Amino acid sequence: MIELKNLRKTYTLGTNVVNALDDVSLTINDGEFVAIMGPSGSGKSTLMNMIGLLDTPESGKYVLNGKEISETKEDDLAELRRNTIGFIFQQFNLLSRLDARSNVQLPLVYSGHLENKDNADLLLDRVGIGKRKWHKPSELSGGQQQRVAIARALINNPSLILADEPTGNLDSASEKEIMTLLRELNDAGMTVVIVTHNDEIGEQAKRVVRMRDGKVVSDTVNIPSDVRENNFQDNNNQKGKSAFIFELKEHLKQGMQSILSNKIRAFLSMLGILIGVGAVVAMLALGNGAKIALKEQIESMGANLLMVMPGAFRMGGVTMEEGSVTRLNVSDVEALKKSITEVNNASPTIRGSSQVVYLNKNKRTNITGTSIDYEQIRASSPTMGRFFTLEEQDRRASVALLGTTVIRELFGTKNPIGKSIKIDKINFKVIGVLPRKGVAGPRDQDDIVIIPYTTAMKKMYGKTYIDAIDVELSKNADTKAAEESIKEFLFSRHNVALSQREDAFRVMNMAEMQKMMSQMSNVMSMLLASIAGISLLVGGIGIMNIMLVSVTERTREIGIRKAIGAKKRDILMQFLTESFVISFVGGVFGVFLGWSASVILSKFAGWTTVVSVMSIVLALGFSLGIGLFFGVYPALKAAKLKPIVALRYE
Ligand code: ADP
Repeated sequence: MIELKNLRKTYTLGTNVVNALDDVSLTINDGEFVAIMGPSGSGKSTLMNMIGLLDTPESGKYVLNGKEISETKEDDLAELRRNTIGFIFQQFNLLSRLDARSNVQLPLVYSGHLENKDNADLLLDRVGIGKRKWHKPSELSGGQQQRVAIARALINNPSLILADEPTGNLDSASEKEIMTLLRELNDAGMTVVIVTHNDEIGEQAKRVVRMRDGKVVSDTVNIPSDVRENNFQDNNNQKGKSAFIFELKEHLKQGMQSILSNKIRAFLSMLGILIGVGAVVAMLALGNGAKIALKEQIESMGANLLMVMPGAFRMGGVTMEEGSVTRLNVSDVEALKKSITEVNNASPTIRGSSQVVYLNKNKRTNITGTSIDYEQIRASSPTMGRFFTLEEQDRRASVALLGTTVIRELFGTKNPIGKSIKIDKINFKVIGVLPRKGVAGPRDQDDIVIIPYTTAMKKMYGKTYIDAIDVELSKNADTKAAEESIKEFLFSRHNVALSQREDAFRVMNMAEMQKMMSQMSNVMSMLLASIAGISLLVGGIGIMNIMLVSVTERTREIGIRKAIGAKKRDILMQFLTESFVISFVGGVFGVFLGWSASVILSKFAGWTTVVSVMSIVLALGFSLGIGLFFGVYPALKAAKLKPIVALRYE
């Protein structure tokens, strides 16, 4: 039963105050068939919207089936609407993307009454268009669309049918059919209230309420209605788990449909996410690749390799110059080999930088003078030719082994073995090619020429001291302990005073170097990834933009959904699902893009790249988070729309 007491609603347009409803009191019993009539602007639709819980009065009381409405919250109103009321509008208000059957089933998405799903077919048969249920609204005539709308109004078994000018847009044949349907529904026990300005239609109702200027001016009964007991039943509103999944599936389906119906727009909004995810994946792959390559290189150098250098290495404070306290000499190398048990092998290192010339080509490169032990310690057996011999080392022979970078630049593809080159104007014979070591950090390890240390000291640089000692520890030696004993040994050998010990020698092991380098490459890859992350963020803003447009564009659709019982949460979910789908699809394509980019980088640029599962999960998760985050605002905006405002939106 509908009881309205002293309802009031005014609209202010500029200085003009319109009394859309002016102290309206009205009671409609269950089972009645009432026509609300009156000239245009008399307040009929306003009254109808009040009865239908789409709008709220400023003052007055509305009791629906014993429930006071004025204090009820919006979501509870939505629930009441979908369980009690079926709406029929002048403009049919079907969702254009859904076929007739899905339109009829739509209220079930919100009410959760899945058991009624097949009733859609029965209802469509009953209103006479069962055969056209797979057609979209645009493929149906006005009369057919209105019949679909009636079937939709009936799907949740309402006790009240509200029809606002239901035949206003129809030809007279369709008008008759629709009115017949409404009468049948009334005969079956439903309360029917229709708004019309057409007298012929009004006469078919059992009771006519006439309005003018927001007031009820007459209330006449044509035929007494068989007034019934209140057949209102509060349907169970708890949505089960399966109903929730059904709703989610519907949202996903409709999200996909909405994206597919706007392909270019959706693609453009995905583009940001796509590029962002692609960049993150590729950057992380590069970073990972660099780390792994570094590790391999360092392992190829020998993990149990130590480098002993004179002088201290300090990051902060004063940096000591190498050798300012002590200097290393060749005899230290032999002494270390003999005296420290952990030391397996050792070789001296002289470093220099010189101009290397072959015919008309020249190149500045790193010269390393070392002993024959270098071959084993640095795992540097020549790939072509041979290493120098002890005899050559002893007689300071002018022989050289070249790294691949030097060979490429001086010889191209020619065989360098046996050729004569000049290093700082001194003639050298090329006797071997060093194995490729790759790039470690900023240094190209293949940009190198190796010569005997004796030659380097006497013939080239005139040095009496050596720059460093490479030490190879025995297989299972404790690195820390070995470092200590090497230092102690050198301290006593060079009579280093206690106060100067800290600055006398520096021992670096490969594990430490590896740590330092990988920290460096970590910082690099984090930097790259965060730059990539920014493009993800921009992508997110793109999604928000599109979603805001989409909400505005679909305001009317939101109104329709609310009229048939969608709660705020349902609308929120719908739009969130959509932005989720956009960012997910964008993210998946982005992963492929990033993957392909890293494959291309490693194929053509020769960089090591490793796409890790972690980076994919990270990038995808991040893009989904961004989709959700930036989808929330538009979705909230949609959810908060007042049903009547949304429905009126043009
Ligand atoms: P009817 O349905 O009988 O044609 P309405 O209920 O639509 O009349 O409108 C009643 C009066 O309220 C009209 O004068 C109309 O201009 C005014 N009105 C209705 N809705 C609005 C609104 N949203 N803003 C301003 N005025 C409105």
